[in-house]
Amino acid sequence: MTNKIREYDVLGIGLGPANLSIAIALEEQAQTHSLSYCFLEQKPQFEWHGGMLLDGTRMQISCLKDLVTLRNPMSQYTFVNYLHAHNRLNTFINLGSQHPSRIEFNDYLTWVAKQFDSVIHYNQRVIDIQPIEEDGEVTKVKVTSSNANGDKTVRIAKSLILGMGGMPKLPKQFEGLTNTNVLHSSQYKQWKESTNNLPVKPKIAVIGAGQSAAEIFVDMCNRYEEGEVHMINRRFALHPADDSPFVNEIFDPEFTDHVYSREQPERQEILNHFSATNYSVVDMEELNAIYGRLYLQQVTRKGRHKYLRCHEIQEAGEKGQQVSLRFNDRINNQQSWQDYDAVILATGYRYDEFNQMLNNMRPLMSESSVERRYRLPMKNKCHVNIFLQGCCESSHGLSDTLLSVLAVRSKEIVDALLEHKALLSTEKMSA
Ligand SMILES: Cc1cc2nc3c(=O)[nH]c(=O)nc-3n(C[C@H](O)[C@H](O)[C@H](O)COP(=O)(O)OP(=O)(O)OC[C@H]3O[C@@H](n4cnc5c(N)ncnc54)[C@H](O)[C@@H]3O)c2cc1C
Repeated sequence: MTNKIREYDVLGIGLGPANLSIAIALEEQAQTHSLSYCFLEQKPQFEWHGGMLLDGTRMQISCLKDLVTLRNPMSQYTFVNYLHAHNRLNTFINLGSQHPSRIEFNDYLTWVAKQFDSVIHYNQRVIDIQPIEEDGEVTKVKVTSSNANGDKTVRIAKSLILGMGGMPKLPKQFEGLTNTNVLHSSQYKQWKESTNNLPVKPKIAVIGAGQSAAEIFVDMCNRYEEGEVHMINRRFALHPADDSPFVNEIFDPEFTDHVYSREQPERQEILNHFSATNYSVVDMEELNAIYGRLYLQQVTRKGRHKYLRCHEIQEAGEKGQQVSLRFNDRINNQQSWQDYDAVILATGYRYDEFNQMLNNMRPLMSESSVERRYRLPMKNKCHVNIFLQGCCESSHGLSDTLLSVLAVRSKEIVDALLEHKALLSTEKMSA
C-alpha cells in the first residue's frame, strides 16, 4: 500500500523563530481563507540555538520584539502572555530588564511551538525541491524530506516559505580536520556536555571577536580556571555592540522600506555603516567583564587566560590528540605555532543555503531581485510563490537575520500569499 502524498497551500522549510512567527500570522490573519499548511523542521523538537543556550546569556533585543507583538499586541502568543500564563509577569517586571535570558526566550518559543504541534513535522530535513510542470505551467512543487533514519517523505506545495536560518561558517584552514575537539560555536553546549577526553588543565583556542566568542571564552575560563584559554582575534580590539537608541532605529520595520528603496551601492553603504550593531561586536557589559578578568590575572599572577590580538591563523593541522595553529602576529611581525587541546570556531554563519535548496527551481526564476515582500520573482509560466526569510540582508537590511522584524515580516509575507490566492480564485471565476 502506498501512502497518499499530502498537498498543501503553504509549506514552511525550517522551524526557527521566523517560520514560527509565520505560523502565528497564518492562524491569525488567514483564518477565513482555509489555507492548508505545514512546517518541516530537521531537529527532533523545537530548540533555539541550543548549542549556545548557556547559563547567564541574555537576549540582545527587547522581549517586546517577540514573534508577534509588533504586528498584533493583543495576540495570545506574545512574550507578555507567556509570562502571564506561567505566573511570572510580576516577577519578570521586578527584574527591571527587557532583556530576558536566552534560556527563558527559548522556553517562550518552545511554548509557542507546542501550540502549533499539529502543523509541525519534526525530524524532517528538506533535501530536495522539484517543480511539477503540467501543460507548460508550474503551479506546484514536490518537496522531499528525510528523517534521521534516511526514510524519505514527499509532499506537494503551492507556496514555499524558507526559514532555514544560517549555516555554520568555517574558515578554510580548518576544512578536513577530523579532531572532534575542533568545533563550531553552534555545537558548543553539546560538545561541552559530552567531551571527556581533555586534560585537566587544557589549552583551548576560541577563535572570533563577536558575542558568541566572548560568551564561550568566559564559559571556558570559568570551567577551566587553571587551564589556558586563548581568545584569538585578527583585529586589535574587542569592539562593543552599538545598541544606543538612535542607532537602534535601523531595526524598526520602517527602516526596511528605506533600505529596500535604495540602489545596491547605497544599501551596502548602510550595511557597512551600521555593521557594529551586529557583526564582530560584544555586549559592553560582557566586554568589560572580560577586560576586568584579564586585569585581575595580572594582579594575582594567577591564571593563564589570554586575549591574542592581531593574530591571523595561517594554517591548522592535527598533531596527535592536539591541533596546531600557525599564527601571523601582526603586531610583533612574528610567525609562531601553538598547540591546543580544543579549538572552538565562533566564526559566524552564512545565509546562502537557499541557493542550493532552490537549485532545481533556478530555470524558473526571473532575473530580477527579491521583491519587497520577500518573494522571489518567477518567470511567467511559474505560479509557485517562494518567500525567503533571513537571507535578504543585502536588499532588506541588517534586521533580516535577526528577530526585530519577524512579527511585521510575517504579516507582509502572509498578506502577499493571501493576495495571490485571491488573484488565483478571481482568474478561475472569470475563466
Ligand atoms: C547564539 C545566538 C544568539 C542570538 N541572539 C539573538 C538575539 O538576542 N536577538 C536577535 O535579534 N537575534 C539573535 N540571534 C540571531 C538569530 O538568527 C535569530 O535570533 C533567529 O534565530 C533567526 O530565526 P530563523 O528562524 O530565521 O533561523 P533559525 O533560528 O536558525 O532557525 C532555522 C531552522 O531551520 C532549520 N532548518 C535548516 N535547514 C533545514 C532543512 N533543510 N530542513 C528542515 N529544517 C531546516 C534549522 O534546524 C532551524 O531550526 C542569535 C543568533 C545566535 C546564533
